[in-house]
Amino acid sequence: MAYELPDLPYAYDALEPHIDEQTMRLHHDKHHNTYVQNLNSALEQHPDADKGSIEELLADIDSVPEEIRRAVRNNGGQHSNHMIFWEIMGPEGQGGGEPHEGLAEAIDSAFGSFGEFKSQFEAACAPGALFGSGWCWLVANPGGSVELLQTANGDSPYMEGKLPIIGLDCWEHAYYLKYQNRRPEYVSNWWNVVNWEEAGRRYDAARSS
Ligand code: MN
Repeated sequence: MAYELPDLPYAYDALEPHIDEQTMRLHHDKHHNTYVQNLNSALEQHPDADKGSIEELLADIDSVPEEIRRAVRNNGGQHSNHMIFWEIMGPEGQGGGEPHEGLAEAIDSAFGSFGEFKSQFEAACAPGALFGSGWCWLVANPGGSVELLQTANGDSPYMEGKLPIIGLDCWEHAYYLKYQNRRPEYVSNWWNVVNWEEAGRRYDAARSS
């Protein structure tokens, strides 16, 4: 069973002006699509390596045959990372604001306040803290506590036994057309499109898993 590129859950221009339409088209239709094709090509060589879900495949990456492990790690990680990224954003009306209920309590417990969480997240995304390409995440541990996590290149939180709640793509392809070298501006504007309802659903599911 081949992995497939999911449609965006909103229009390509829905995240304007914070994330521009051209970036979204290239990012989804070209970059993400290429990761899916490369993942499927790798798995064609060892179909029995596929556990049936991308999360299980990544969580047990060390059991993937060495011949295709790097390709699955990079492209499978990026496939999963991007699916989460699209889902936890939304247009005006769905994006922005603050988390509520369980997730809000977990963030307050871990960071002291939502504002402090944002400050620490932004610091973790800064080029000096996350050098090169990678992602910044808010992840949940089994039991429900949350913490920040950085992953390099295409690595996934599932590879470390963490459950991703929200994640920000800090690869240059995610922001360079609009923001050029101004990654901190991309990061601070991104809060306007974070869909905290969806993040809350992910947290509730993680906590009860
Ligand atoms: Mn990307």
